[in-house]
Amino acid sequence: MHEMSIALAVVDQVEQAARPAGATGVAHVALDVGELAGVVPDALAFCFELACAGTVLEGAELTTRTVPGTARCTGCGEVWEVGMPPRLLCPGCGQAAAELLSGRELRISEVRWAAREQQPAPERQSAPATPRPAGTT
Ligand SMILES: [Zn+2]
Repeated sequence: MHEMSIALAVVDQVEQAARPAGATGVAHVALDVGELAGVVPDALAFCFELACAGTVLEGAELTTRTVPGTARCTGCGEVWEVGMPPRLLCPGCGQAAAELLSGRELRISEVRWAAREQQPAPERQSAPATPRPAGTT
Protein backbone atom coordinates (compact mmCIF):
# COMPACT_ATOMS: atom_id res chain seq x y z
CA MET A 1 0.00 0.00 0.00
CA HIS A 2 1.76 3.03 -1.38
CA GLU A 3 -0.09 5.58 0.76
CA MET A 4 0.65 3.73 3.98
CA SER A 5 4.39 3.85 3.47
CA ILE A 6 4.14 7.56 2.66
CA ALA A 7 2.06 8.21 5.75
CA LEU A 8 4.55 6.34 7.92
CA ALA A 9 7.44 8.28 6.42
CA VAL A 10 5.67 11.58 7.08
CA VAL A 11 4.91 10.63 10.67
CA ASP A 12 8.50 9.55 11.13
CA GLN A 13 9.86 12.85 9.83
CA VAL A 14 7.51 14.94 11.92
CA GLU A 15 8.34 12.91 15.02
CA GLN A 16 12.01 13.51 14.48
CA ALA A 17 11.41 17.23 14.17
CA ALA A 18 9.14 17.27 17.20
CA ARG A 19 11.76 16.09 19.64
CA PRO A 20 14.30 18.91 19.27
CA ALA A 21 11.43 21.40 19.03
CA GLY A 22 10.12 20.17 22.35
CA ALA A 23 6.69 19.76 20.83
CA THR A 24 4.16 17.81 22.80
CA GLY A 25 1.59 17.60 20.06
CA VAL A 26 0.97 18.36 16.41
CA ALA A 27 -2.00 20.38 15.26
CA HIS A 28 -1.55 20.34 11.54
CA VAL A 29 0.59 18.86 8.81
CA ALA A 30 0.49 20.17 5.25
CA LEU A 31 1.81 18.15 2.35
CA ASP A 32 2.63 19.07 -1.19
CA VAL A 33 1.74 16.16 -3.39
CA GLY A 34 2.61 16.17 -7.06
CA GLU A 35 -0.23 15.08 -9.29
CA LEU A 36 2.09 12.55 -10.90
CA ALA A 37 3.17 11.04 -7.60
CA GLY A 38 0.37 8.53 -7.81
CA VAL A 39 -1.07 9.33 -4.42
CA VAL A 40 -4.77 9.13 -3.72
CA PRO A 41 -5.42 11.94 -1.22
CA ASP A 42 -8.33 10.17 0.50
CA ALA A 43 -6.31 7.01 0.94
CA LEU A 44 -3.40 9.04 2.25
CA ALA A 45 -5.61 10.84 4.76
CA PHE A 46 -6.92 7.50 5.98
CA CYS A 47 -3.45 5.98 6.31
CA PHE A 48 -2.14 9.12 7.97
CA GLU A 49 -4.72 8.83 10.71
CA LEU A 50 -3.70 5.22 11.33
CA ALA A 51 -0.01 6.06 11.25
CA CYS A 52 -0.48 8.86 13.77
CA ALA A 53 -2.12 6.71 16.39
CA GLY A 54 -0.03 6.51 19.51
CA THR A 55 2.51 9.06 18.32
CA VAL A 56 3.02 12.72 19.06
CA LEU A 57 0.98 13.34 15.91
CA GLU A 58 -2.16 11.74 17.22
CA GLY A 59 -5.14 13.89 16.25
CA ALA A 60 -3.14 16.02 13.84
CA GLU A 61 -5.00 17.38 10.87
CA LEU A 62 -3.61 16.64 7.42
CA THR A 63 -4.07 18.81 4.39
CA THR A 64 -2.67 18.01 0.99
CA ARG A 65 -2.03 20.46 -1.79
CA THR A 66 -1.81 19.08 -5.28
CA VAL A 67 1.15 20.36 -7.24
CA PRO A 68 0.41 20.32 -10.97
CA GLY A 69 2.83 18.45 -13.15
CA THR A 70 4.78 20.66 -15.52
CA ALA A 71 7.30 19.78 -18.15
CA ARG A 72 9.76 21.67 -20.32
CA CYS A 73 10.70 20.76 -23.82
CA THR A 74 14.43 20.29 -24.10
CA GLY A 75 14.09 21.07 -27.80
CA CYS A 76 12.34 24.43 -27.86
CA GLY A 77 12.02 25.39 -24.20
CA GLU A 78 8.24 25.37 -24.09
CA VAL A 79 6.81 24.77 -20.61
CA TRP A 80 3.38 23.22 -20.17
CA GLU A 81 1.20 21.50 -17.63
CA VAL A 82 1.22 17.85 -18.45
CA GLY A 83 -2.10 17.03 -16.79
CA MET A 84 -3.31 13.56 -15.97
CA PRO A 85 -2.67 11.28 -17.76
CA PRO A 86 0.54 13.14 -18.51
CA ARG A 87 0.95 14.60 -21.96
CA LEU A 88 4.65 14.42 -22.71
CA LEU A 89 4.67 15.61 -26.30
CA CYS A 90 5.69 19.22 -26.59
CA PRO A 91 2.67 21.32 -27.58
CA GLY A 92 5.09 23.78 -29.19
CA CYS A 93 7.13 21.61 -31.51
CA GLY A 94 5.71 18.13 -31.08
CA GLN A 95 8.93 16.56 -29.88
CA ALA A 96 8.90 13.93 -27.18
CA ALA A 97 11.68 15.66 -25.34
CA ALA A 98 9.94 16.54 -22.10
CA GLU A 99 11.85 17.16 -18.96
CA LEU A 100 9.64 16.95 -15.92
CA LEU A 101 9.88 20.10 -13.80
CA SER A 102 7.32 19.32 -11.13
CA GLY A 103 4.57 16.93 -10.29
CA ARG A 104 6.41 14.17 -8.51
CA GLU A 105 7.04 15.92 -5.24
CA LEU A 106 5.97 14.57 -1.96
CA ARG A 107 7.06 16.84 0.79
CA ILE A 108 5.98 18.29 4.05
CA SER A 109 5.36 21.96 3.46
CA GLU A 110 4.24 22.92 6.94
CA VAL A 111 3.96 21.50 10.42
CA ARG A 112 2.15 23.34 13.15
CA TRP A 113 2.81 22.19 16.66
CA ALA A 114 -0.08 22.02 19.01
CA ALA A 115 -0.18 24.96 21.36
CA ARG A 116 0.91 23.95 24.74
CA GLU A 117 -1.82 24.14 27.27
CA GLN A 118 -1.19 27.06 29.50
CA GLN A 119 -0.84 25.39 32.78
CA PRO A 120 0.13 27.72 35.54
CA ALA A 121 2.72 26.31 37.83
CA PRO A 122 0.84 24.46 40.49
CA GLU A 123 0.78 26.38 43.68
CA ARG A 124 2.13 24.54 46.58
CA GLN A 125 -0.54 23.58 48.95
CA SER A 126 1.56 24.01 51.99
CA ALA A 127 -0.15 24.61 55.22
CA PRO A 128 -0.53 28.32 55.66
CA ALA A 129 2.20 29.44 57.91
CA THR A 130 0.74 31.07 60.92
CA PRO A 131 2.66 34.24 61.33
CA ARG A 132 3.77 34.86 64.79
CA PRO A 133 2.12 37.93 65.96
CA ALA A 134 4.71 40.59 65.76
CA GLY A 135 5.73 42.37 68.85
CA THR A 136 4.91 39.60 71.29
CA THR A 137 8.18 38.35 72.50
ZN1 LIG B 1 9.24 21.77 -28.00
